Amino acid sequence: MAVGRREGADPDAAAGPAPDALPRDRLLLAAMQTSPDAFVVLDHEDRVEWWNRAAERLFGWTLDEAVGRYLTDLVVPEQYRTAHHEGLLRRASGGEPRLGAAPVQVEAVCRDGSRILVELSVGELEWDGGPRFHAFIRDVTDREAARSALELSENRSRMVFENAPVGMLLTEVGDGAFGRVISANPAAARMLGWTRDELRGRAYGDLTHHDDRHLDRRMVPLLLAGELDKLEYEKRCVGRDGREVWVASSATVVRDLDGSPIHSIHQLMDISERRSAAQQLVRLNEELRQANEGLAAANAELDGFTAAVAHDLKNPLMAILMHAHLLAESEDGRAVGRGAADAITRGATRMNSLIEGLLLYARAEGAELDRTSVDVDTMVCDIVRELSVVADRPVRVTREELPSLSVEPVLFRQVVANVLGNGVKYVAPGVAPRVHVSAHKDPVTDDWTLRFADNGIGIAPESRERVFDVFHRETTDYPGTGIGLAICRRVVERHGGKIWIEPGPDGGSVVHVRMPCE
Ligand code: ADP
Repeated sequence: MAVGRREGADPDAAAGPAPDALPRDRLLLAAMQTSPDAFVVLDHEDRVEWWNRAAERLFGWTLDEAVGRYLTDLVVPEQYRTAHHEGLLRRASGGEPRLGAAPVQVEAVCRDGSRILVELSVGELEWDGGPRFHAFIRDVTDREAARSALELSENRSRMVFENAPVGMLLTEVGDGAFGRVISANPAAARMLGWTRDELRGRAYGDLTHHDDRHLDRRMVPLLLAGELDKLEYEKRCVGRDGREVWVASSATVVRDLDGSPIHSIHQLMDISERRSAAQQLVRLNEELRQANEGLAAANAELDGFTAAVAHDLKNPLMAILMHAHLLAESEDGRAVGRGAADAITRGATRMNSLIEGLLLYARAEGAELDRTSVDVDTMVCDIVRELSVVADRPVRVTREELPSLSVEPVLFRQVVANVLGNGVKYVAPGVAPRVHVSAHKDPVTDDWTLRFADNGIGIAPESRERVFDVFHRETTDYPGTGIGLAICRRVVERHGGKIWIEPGPDGGSVVHVRMPCE
């Protein structure tokens, strides 16, 4: 290429090929002039022989100004000049050149003093009596600035990912689901108990607890379809050892240029502690509510109890007072005195049994539950024997095989004695009392239910609960205090059991006592 004649010194000549150039040289020259990269030809001493328009634009020196000047003086920054010279000398003396055809990046300076970063590919030709150098020079300042900005931003993102206190997972979206994990940060690995390598390649869906997968199944298609920007909900993940990990999860997707989702990014915050604290709070609140209810019920019971005590103790007391008064006032002391003395005795006796009943009732609440195994069959036998002694009619109690139960023996005896006693007592006049005692074991819970079926007068449906209230009596035709069944309920419930009354199939009542399996 005939550029060695410095025809570029003539601005017009610089604009086009030399008149005497061969057609191919002209073509090459035209190509050089239209090249977007700067092209420079140097003589063996580093002086510019020619450079193209792109070089003019890049460095700010016209061809005329550049030709004949040392490239070093024109574009090599001060601090690199010595090294540049040394390189040229080394080259001139046949040494190994440092720069070659492979592009290298160096800093250059422009006419206005601004610094730019250029990529340089240097070639060497022996021609016109000596070596010539030529170089393509490309301004890569913007490209490199963009590359470093990208690198910086990637580094920043990597730092965030690696050091985030929340678990982060990146997946490759596929088949309408979140797909497989490409990358997991250390916090995610710690939270779930897997190593980061183990998490890689695992299906994201498998990390969600089986019972919470319906959430992902419902929501993920909406996110992938772009109907939602972000998914945020609480769910359970499964750790490596199978344990549940409650997380607040958030998921977003990264889309390609046509908007198809390619990656999903997940953030998982471990909220197990918060959940269990909240559950604990709910539990405590429930316990508190139950305790309050118990307290309110106890208060209501106490109110009713006090009123009933006042009423029931007052009656015999008034009788005692009245008859004592009569006795004192009587003119015919003997006749009135005997009647009054009998009434006083009856009143005092009744008061005594009421007080004893109340004492038993109070004791049923306060006494220690010292459980031992009690043979109910033997207990029923003993009680029937005692009842037969005091009954005015023959007493018939039949029984099936009865179990042994772990109960407080004295208190439980009161239950059986009260229920059997009522069964024998509440029969119509002239009817021989009959009670059948049986037991049934629940095959699932192993709880025992004792059944006392009598042939008595029965209890109206609306009173079957009321009869368990202190002092409640359905009839005064039979002796009694109205405390027996209240004691029974208290004792049974303290054992964790239940007592209730149902009508018998052929009349009469069936008292059920269910005792939990110990
Ligand atoms: P008491 O027998 O001392 O009156 P209880 O508390 O044992 O007191 O019973 C309360 C009331 O329930 C009784 O007054 C009676 O009206 C009714 N009752 C209890 N057991 C039976 C029964 N087996 N058959 C009919 N009525 C009964």
